[in-house]
Amino acid sequence: MKIVTASPKETISLGRKFSSLLRKGDVVVLEGPLGAGKTTFIKGILSGLGIKKDMVISPSFTLIREYKAPKMMIYHIDLYRIENKKELINLGYQDYFYSPGGLSLIEWGQRIEGILPEYLKVRISFLGQNKRNIDMSTKGYLKKELIPL
Ligand code: ADP
Ligand code: MG
Repeated sequence: MKIVTASPKETISLGRKFSSLLRKGDVVVLEGPLGAGKTTFIKGILSGLGIKKDMVISPSFTLIREYKAPKMMIYHIDLYRIENKKELINLGYQDYFYSPGGLSLIEWGQRIEGILPEYLKVRISFLGQNKRNIDMSTKGYLKKELIPL
């Protein structure tokens, strides 16, 4: 499903709607160039799951930030600095993915798609200064209905 947003606000609002599809144990891979809006979309997801926007900081330097939402733990991961799958596995981050109590949101997640059996994918691309194309899909074995969006 593809949706065009015309402002960061619209992207946050779409992320909030998207969050209603998410359950414990889900993994969301976010793909798109620097500044596309991955973190912005995640702010919407987090807001939809009960985390205040001003609490959200991009984990570019920390690799991972954990949020305790009312219904589940949320792991916001940024793999921008990760060079390869082996490096990631060595760091032990696979423990987060599909965690029974948690939800993983992974920026630059396409770098590890090969080791993920099922996930939701959000691909963001630039259409203009404030316009973004946001393409949401399910991958692997995961069958989820995207219609509520
Ligand atoms: P990423 O995490 O992909 O590097 P960010 O979400 O941190 O990107 O940054 C996106 C930047 O683009 C922000 O400065 C935001 O204000 C701006 N922006 C402009 N238009 C949009 C839009 N339609 N959706 C999301 N962000 C937008
Ligand atoms: Mg980011």
